[in-house]
Amino acid sequence: MVERAPQLRGGGYAVDFRGAAHRSVLAKMGILDQIKEQQTHLRATTYVDEHSRPVAAMPASIFAGDVEILRGDLGRILYGATRDDTEYLFGDSITSLRQDDDGVHVTFAQSAPRTFDLVIGADGLHSAVRRLAFGGQPDQVTDLGLYVSIFGVPDRYGLDHEGQLYSGPGKTAAVFSAPGTGQAIAQFFFTAPGGEPIDFDYRDTGQQQKILASVYQDVGWHVPDLLGQMPAADDFYFDSVSQVKLDRWSSGRIALTGDAGYAAGPGGNGTGTAVVAAYVLAGELAAARGDYRVAYDRYERLLRPYVARGQKQASGGADFLAPSTAKKIAQRDRFFRMLPYLPPARLLVKHLSTRTATAIKLPEYP
Ligand SMILES: Cc1cc2nc3c(=O)[nH]c(=O)nc-3n(C[C@H](O)[C@H](O)[C@H](O)COP(=O)(O)OP(=O)(O)OC[C@H]3O[C@@H](n4cnc5c(N)ncnc54)[C@H](O)[C@@H]3O)c2cc1C
Repeated sequence: MVERAPQLRGGGYAVDFRGAAHRSVLAKMGILDQIKEQQTHLRATTYVDEHSRPVAAMPASIFAGDVEILRGDLGRILYGATRDDTEYLFGDSITSLRQDDDGVHVTFAQSAPRTFDLVIGADGLHSAVRRLAFGGQPDQVTDLGLYVSIFGVPDRYGLDHEGQLYSGPGKTAAVFSAPGTGQAIAQFFFTAPGGEPIDFDYRDTGQQQKILASVYQDVGWHVPDLLGQMPAADDFYFDSVSQVKLDRWSSGRIALTGDAGYAAGPGGNGTGTAVVAAYVLAGELAAARGDYRVAYDRYERLLRPYVARGQKQASGGADFLAPSTAKKIAQRDRFFRMLPYLPPARLLVKHLSTRTATAIKLPEYP
């Protein structure tokens, strides 16, 4: 396992698992109970006006699924479950890949070159493995026109297992509790100002903070205070919301999984999909007794329809997270105000929020 960060990455937003497929894989991995112990128990997400008065409330199941956990806590659990029999190289990354009949010859930024039977790229939206092994394919990454920034702030907003969101046209700011951390999590979702994509360097934090401050300079509520905390945050995250679409998820001995191969964006069950996909990939490799061609083909055939549904669901994310006009914000708020009085609609929302996550029949593997 090669991780660019110098140590296990903490911080980040909350991710969730929903429905039987996600839960059954976590149970087979033996980590479902640990995840439940660390879950955030988010109770409500409330849309507020600039004086923090509630305007509408969203059912917890939409944002938090069946079980929600902070990304850093999930990372710690996965690391704890694997570190005794997996070699981890922190603070390193892959710089070249060359494959032949003997394996994949890999060079690293720090470590000495090595040869492996297979290489699985699980290095996220900006995957280096994808660039090195699949660089020839055009239009791999589609920008959904939405930007996101997330960072930890001191917990002084009086939140108790809840989140508050404040929306202006094309700009939402939010603050969520992060129970047990002494912190709260600030989140910002905004559409490209003027509809033009923002040109930014995804590794230049200073530049990204300037962009965020400029987009939100005229926004009230807690925003000036949250932005004031931004320079002190050690977990600042900023990115465009993008989807990855490839014709093939493998190239010879090299395959992609998770966001590296098929990022969906918020609302697309990315974390649950990554976990389910890892289970299928490992299971198919075991079932094919290491015949990676057979395994990669079956992995792709099983997962493609599932991934496509998640990506379709997430492609409406901007309308939901940062509605572009005051009228659309009012419509969204009205919908959530009506929801408690419409029991069938409430059930429908719950059904829709798990339907995509459960749309796969998982094989049992040896
Ligand atoms: C704002 C936001 C909110 C989201 N909310 C949810 C949610 O509520 N529920 C949900 O299910 N999903 C959510 N997602 C999606 C989810 O975060 C991803 O789908 C999921 O994290 C994918 O996991 P991954 O392991 O494939 O990639 P990542 O989580 O991106 O992990 C990639 C890892 O690779 C490392 N890395 C990157 N480049 C290199 C390199 N060159 N060399 C070595 N290491 C490298 C990174 O440091 C990182 O540790 C959200 C996404 C965003 C952007």
